[in-house]
Amino acid sequence: MTVEHAKTTCHPVPKRLLDASQNPVPHVDSMKKYKSMWTESVEKPDQFFGNLARELLTWSKPFETVKHGSFAEGDVAWFLEGELNVSYNCVDRHALATPEKVAIIHEGDEPDQVRKITYGELLRLVCQMANTLKSLGVRKGDNVAIYMPMIPEALIAMLACARVGAIHSVVFAGFSSDSLRDRVIDCSARVVITSDEGRRGGKNIATKRIVDDALRDYQTHVEHVIVFRRTGSPIDWVEDRDIWWHDEMAKARTFCAPEPMNAEDPLFLLYTSGSTGAPKGILHTTGGYLLGAAATVKYIFDVQKDDIFACMADIGWVTGHTYITYGPLSLGSTTVLFESTPTYPNPSRFWDLIEKHKVTQFYTAPTAIRALRRLGDSWLKGKNLDSLRVIGSVGEPINPEAWDWYNEKVGQSRCAVVDTYWQTETGSIIISPLPGSHVTKPGSATLPFFGIKPEILDPTTGKILTEIGETGVLAVAQPWPSMARTVYNNHSRFVDTYLKPYPGYYFTGDGAYRDADGYIWVQGRVDDVINVSGHRLSTAEIESALVHHETVAEAAVIGGHDDLTGQCIHAFVSLKPNVDASEGLDKELSLLVRKIIGPFATPKRIYIINDHPKTRSGKIMRRILRKIVNGEQDSLGDISTLADQSVVPSLIAMVHGSK
Ligand code: ATP
Ligand code: MG
Repeated sequence: MTVEHAKTTCHPVPKRLLDASQNPVPHVDSMKKYKSMWTESVEKPDQFFGNLARELLTWSKPFETVKHGSFAEGDVAWFLEGELNVSYNCVDRHALATPEKVAIIHEGDEPDQVRKITYGELLRLVCQMANTLKSLGVRKGDNVAIYMPMIPEALIAMLACARVGAIHSVVFAGFSSDSLRDRVIDCSARVVITSDEGRRGGKNIATKRIVDDALRDYQTHVEHVIVFRRTGSPIDWVEDRDIWWHDEMAKARTFCAPEPMNAEDPLFLLYTSGSTGAPKGILHTTGGYLLGAAATVKYIFDVQKDDIFACMADIGWVTGHTYITYGPLSLGSTTVLFESTPTYPNPSRFWDLIEKHKVTQFYTAPTAIRALRRLGDSWLKGKNLDSLRVIGSVGEPINPEAWDWYNEKVGQSRCAVVDTYWQTETGSIIISPLPGSHVTKPGSATLPFFGIKPEILDPTTGKILTEIGETGVLAVAQPWPSMARTVYNNHSRFVDTYLKPYPGYYFTGDGAYRDADGYIWVQGRVDDVINVSGHRLSTAEIESALVHHETVAEAAVIGGHDDLTGQCIHAFVSLKPNVDASEGLDKELSLLVRKIIGPFATPKRIYIINDHPKTRSGKIMRRILRKIVNGEQDSLGDISTLADQSVVPSLIAMVHGSK
């Protein structure tokens, strides 16, 4: 069934980006070029990706086979005979060519704490940590957990693991000791790398204490905990287990030969953010993953020599892996690592950072964009953001209202806005505009990246839907290099979750439709599509309509059971600061939805709330709202990935009345 969709505006490529006197010529500077590259990438993947892998990566042993396996068999593999080392590709080759070039700019928690690390220095530091790991007995194939704040040592630890062939598992340093323990046990880590404390928003965070709690009284494989001194506060110490980062580094030699790795050897595993259920330990391999990281940074962010790339994600999420560490460094770029929050010491922090470091690519999430929009435009006043060329968004569908604000206020209508769609499982971005070629439409991730052949399938029959505007499930029709290979120690879970639901396809779990230009509009999780009297409605679209209202900061919409209509719409809305819910606001909001989408989309109930239940990566957990509305608050499932569990009782009280 098709849905009537809201009207959109089109934004052509900003003229400035195609003006060679002002900017480097984009790698892809016309739709024609994009189309011919994309067609080659899906019709002749061996040729396209074989060439790209030789161009972007350095192989210690060349591959002979480019592509192997299928979704049907669940045995996808790329660049079979090839050998390479990710740390060599991200560090050595640039340290040899341009040792003085800055690899990492660390913007510390306090704005005056800036540390720059050159490629030459980075190579020595990575080698020392690699030798430290070796001295502790860590070998190729062993697992290492990293639980660190946003400091250069986190990247050094990741790269050191890659150098010796250890599989890293980075756990977001906001997770509780229980969540950390689950992950450390699941991945059988032999070593945990952490810091005494973290610093965020002017506060100390007891990182090491959480590691101690996670490991206490539990049977794990952890033999050593390496502790980096970040703040110097006193900490508990477990003799024979704990060792100081600086003590070991001082002993270690500054060169360590990189371990040759097969393209299909594991590089890391990482747990999904848990917005839909229990997190899965997603495994990525060496060659295909690195190629996806490098290729998307080159083409989607149009990175050129001397660019300064700033991704604001945390390294505990896949966005941090691919767009702070592996993507920018594999291309020899300068990557910005940000330790603080968007509002510390005030909400100008991002804009000051861009101005100070002359950032050319800036990448953040809709949750941050909405939060900053909510705080008002005055924080952007007088900031020089002229260095920016590409600004990106990832993590959730971005409401057109937030897109427009980002484009106008941050991009000053002279940057490419890239709404990038991807998942932990896809390894790198799979649907996105390219800066020099795509007309953009707020709210659409537009067209597939190279090698990606998306299809919209009928959720029930699995048949390809061809009608314009028809919402179905988003699937990918053929394997691409950076896709996950398995769920750690549970290949059947991988096959069952992603490959079995629609045989022959990779199933994303998201709903989407295509418009008349072939643009893809991701509508949120399939589970979140609401069916009211036979109308299939997307939560994203109703939420966008609500955010149109001048007082609304954020909205989440879910389906409740309804005897009459099958499902009905419940909307949870938070307001901008300093606005009170005026009398009749819910009526006004209802009218707005009717006007923008249609009477069938009228919410049955609108709740004005202070905070949405969000994952630690900032995504709204609609499944919790759905359960509460449907009276299933006693079986909320895994809520350990909620950033603030205290919002749950207040939501239950609001929906069902206080007990
Ligand atoms: P879990 O799989 O444990 O529920 P998660 O899916 O939130 O967690 P991630 O892999 O971090 O974990 O998120 C990927 C999901 O984020 C996508 O499936 C999609 O729903 C959403 N997403 C990411 N980027 C976009 C985007 N640009 N537009 C729309 N949705 C997006
Ligand atoms: Mg997911």
